[in-house]
Amino acid sequence: MLRVGLSGGIGSGKSTVAGRLAEHGAVVIDADRLAREVVEPGTDGLRDIAEAFGPDVLDEAGALNRPALAAKVFGDQQALATLNAITHPRIAARTGELIAAAPEDAIVVHDVPLLVENGMAPLYHLVVIVHADLDQRLVRLRDRGLAEEDARRRIAAQADDERRRAVADVWLDNSGTPDLVLAQVDALWADRLVRYESNVRLRRYASYGPPVVVPYDETWPAQAERVAARIRLAAGGRVVEHIGSTSVPGLAAKDVLDFQLGVTSLEEAAELEEALAQAGFPGLGLGEDSVKREGDAPEAWHKRLHAGADPGRPVNLHVRVAGGPAWNWAIGFRDWLRADAAARDEYAALKLELAERHRGDQGSLAYAESKEPWMTAATARVDAFYRDGQTS
Ligand code: ADP
Repeated sequence: MLRVGLSGGIGSGKSTVAGRLAEHGAVVIDADRLAREVVEPGTDGLRDIAEAFGPDVLDEAGALNRPALAAKVFGDQQALATLNAITHPRIAARTGELIAAAPEDAIVVHDVPLLVENGMAPLYHLVVIVHADLDQRLVRLRDRGLAEEDARRRIAAQADDERRRAVADVWLDNSGTPDLVLAQVDALWADRLVRYESNVRLRRYASYGPPVVVPYDETWPAQAERVAARIRLAAGGRVVEHIGSTSVPGLAAKDVLDFQLGVTSLEEAAELEEALAQAGFPGLGLGEDSVKREGDAPEAWHKRLHAGADPGRPVNLHVRVAGGPAWNWAIGFRDWLRADAAARDEYAALKLELAERHRGDQGSLAYAESKEPWMTAATARVDAFYRDGQTS
């Protein structure tokens, strides 16, 4: 099962996108609809609200009088908390039921207007944000019968574009005609979601093909932050560090995000295997980092290796003993490259040359191994950087 979070500001076209995903076969869970269902006449949710806020929040027919309730909670934190304590657990329980009832190979799309505001992004394998320019949203909402003043107030109460961008793995621009965004949805479904789902279910990682070194991408840190948040959540809040070439600003790199997840032992790493696989990072078993410090026992450089299942975002995840030699080496190497422009250039030139040499390879393994001697030789320079507080 693949869990996709879908959000976007009011009037952006979120429902339009959700509808198209449903046509493709997604199981769409509409958070707004569940919020209404849990307070329908006859529910214990509505009964609790009437008890907490008084009978005047009900209309003559016994249904919820929304304006009356809104007037009671508006600007009153305590009242809002009381209301949320009634509705939120019921919405969460119903969401859980619907997810549990979905087929094993379902692509579940959770349509949540307040996904960003509620910090829910790391719960999903992928977050899709629908965007449209403010003017267009106002026109579309007006056509839907919402007065401009009301629309502006509701837009102002929601997260801004910057916060939405920060969590968006996929940014769907719906500023053009509906056809344009629907074509983007079709491509997302066919090129990414279907393969991502089967990869997660079958515990397959996405294969990345031959090594291609690309110029540094300014969006790598933000992408890494999103992936790290998912790994952290799946691993019970353990420490996750972005390492490797994509963590060094300015460095050309293969477009693969590398992370290390800190554990106290490799037994503990093995216990995390299932949770990481379900979160979209299937395990590849035990890995052996090449010993980069003479005299170290090879076992001290062992790790468990995982990789990302998302065909649209290659990830390597090294589960290592936090504070152990391999863990410390990865951090030291990264920080040295971040600090030393000449070392960065030297490494970039080497990578480009090796990638060219391995261009015809099936995968990136031989390429990665061919970098090892330079990396091992760099250990003394990393040590000097730390010892002398200066660059080599
Ligand atoms: P949301 O669910 O994000 O509030 P909707 O999908 O309901 O937004 O879209 C808001 C309104 O704009 C709807 O009436 C919808 O039919 C219309 N709409 C959506 N996308 C477009 C588009 N690209 N061009 C014109 N109108 C659109």
